Amino acid sequence: LGPPEVVAAQASDIAALLPRPSAESDKYRRGVLGLVAGSTRYPGAAVLAVGGALRGGAGMVRFVSAAGAVDHVLSRWPEAVTTVLDPEAPDPRAAGRVQAWAVGPGAGTGEQAVRTLAAVLSGSEPVLVDADGLSCLAARPELVRDREAPTLLTPHAGELTRLLAAAGTETEPARVAAHRLDHARRAADAYGCTVLLKGSTTVIAGPGESGPAAVNTTGTPWLATAGSGDVLSGLIGAQLAGGLGPHDAAVAGAYLHGLAARIAAEGAPISAADLITALPGAFRAVG
Ligand code: AMP
Ligand code: MG
Repeated sequence: LGPPEVVAAQASDIAALLPRPSAESDKYRRGVLGLVAGSTRYPGAAVLAVGGALRGGAGMVRFVSAAGAVDHVLSRWPEAVTTVLDPEAPDPRAAGRVQAWAVGPGAGTGEQAVRTLAAVLSGSEPVLVDADGLSCLAARPELVRDREAPTLLTPHAGELTRLLAAAGTETEPARVAAHRLDHARRAADAYGCTVLLKGSTTVIAGPGESGPAAVNTTGTPWLATAGSGDVLSGLIGAQLAGGLGPHDAAVAGAYLHGLAARIAAEGAPISAADLITALPGAFRAVG
């Protein structure tokens, strides 16, 4: 058996994957996403990730962070259900039941951030780790390596380079970008989980030689703007909370994110917040 085919999803594939509300749905059944993002220093990443999750279809976003970030999130998204993290014993799981977690955008990389990530990863819910969360993970790779529950890492080339170094494989961001699928697979193998590698195209790989692999090309270079990855974290997190596995959640999220960027940009510069505004149009376009 050779390596599996690398699949680019079509709109109809995404439409078939997406969790849809039914007459029996309530906000809990649609999926509660626990989101750990932002910090007093970087509250903006949290605002963007919460927006991606709410417009991505989460029934509820439980937002857990420092007080400063909570205030910013509530002023932009009063829909969020918030908890201020206890700096002495940071455990987001104490905030209440969730179906999945997304951890990392703007969340910091200090000792408290590592403890917070460890607490989330100690649970059995699916977890997406991005951005600062990936830096914390590079310091404690065993937190994911030894984990059984579904896990998804969403690095760009620089973050993937650090993850691989922490797992004993030295490489460079330029090499990662040039051999995207190969490096995503290596990281998926090293950490035993799904890896979504961001860049001009997005590749998604699972562990093992016959692990699933997908590529997404719906994006546009206008996505290369600060904060666009934070929106993606919330958006994919919402799909995990809605019941998709890490591979399908990553495929659906990357597709919708790229499409939202095209809808928002139409050949002109966009900011990451414009992606959130364009997300309903992207959902409608996949049907
Ligand atoms: P981040 O690096 O976390 O801010 O995420 C950036 C987002 O923009 C990811 O979804 C990337 O795939 C996307 N992106 C970055 N550069 C490009 C590019 N040149 N073409 C298409 N998408 C891009
Ligand atoms: Mg990022």
